Amino acid sequence: LKKIKLSANILEENDLAANKARKYFTKQNIFVINFMGSPGSGKTTLISGIIKLLKKKYSLGVIEGDVATAKDAEKIAKLKIPVALLNTDQIGNACHLTSKMIRKAYKKLGEKVNILFIENIGNLVCPAEFDLGEHLRISMTSITEGDDKISKYPPMFMKADVIVVNKFDLLRHFDFSVKGVKKDIARLNPKAKVFYLDATAGKDLDKFAAYLEERLINLQFTIE
Ligand code: MG
Ligand code: ZN
Repeated sequence: LKKIKLSANILEENDLAANKARKYFTKQNIFVINFMGSPGSGKTTLISGIIKLLKKKYSLGVIEGDVATAKDAEKIAKLKIPVALLNTDQIGNACHLTSKMIRKAYKKLGEKVNILFIENIGNLVCPAEFDLGEHLRISMTSITEGDDKISKYPPMFMKADVIVVNKFDLLRHFDFSVKGVKKDIARLNPKAKVFYLDATAGKDLDKFAAYLEERLINLQFTIE
């Protein structure tokens, strides 16, 4: 019982910090997007693809959550975008990011950005519970993971604004029911915007980028 109470307090504290952070980001005209999904679902590849499409028009930045390495942060840095790395094995809760961590990392970024991408820790469980002060939540799965992830990890997908099914070009090589996934989404989160894309091949990345821009405008951010 004690344990349950403690975890509720941690979440409550995080929610307060996240709401404060969201107000701050909104005021500063920073559109914050949180990318969540399993290790290997393609978060870094998707973020990189979007950066290439949007970097001429917007000032972009990335907060990279990684348990132990700088591998993804280095990939992003090659795109000449400011990136702040959070290695969670040195902070405590290795398996998710918190709003407090985001505040620290944002200070380290050192540049004013218009769109801030957050790559969360590859994990389908607890990142769903931790609001980071984002304006848009993206939950990813991919063809190679199998078609059961949405039904097996409902909180991750129930709370998403956008669900991405990545690596779609590999569909014919896997026993993956698109119909089943559509049913799961209709049952768990019928309001989610859904993209079936392939970040590596670039398939439908332009549509995804256009959607992010549309959301930026709808949320009344201005282009900087
Ligand atoms: Mg990654
Ligand atoms: Zn965790």
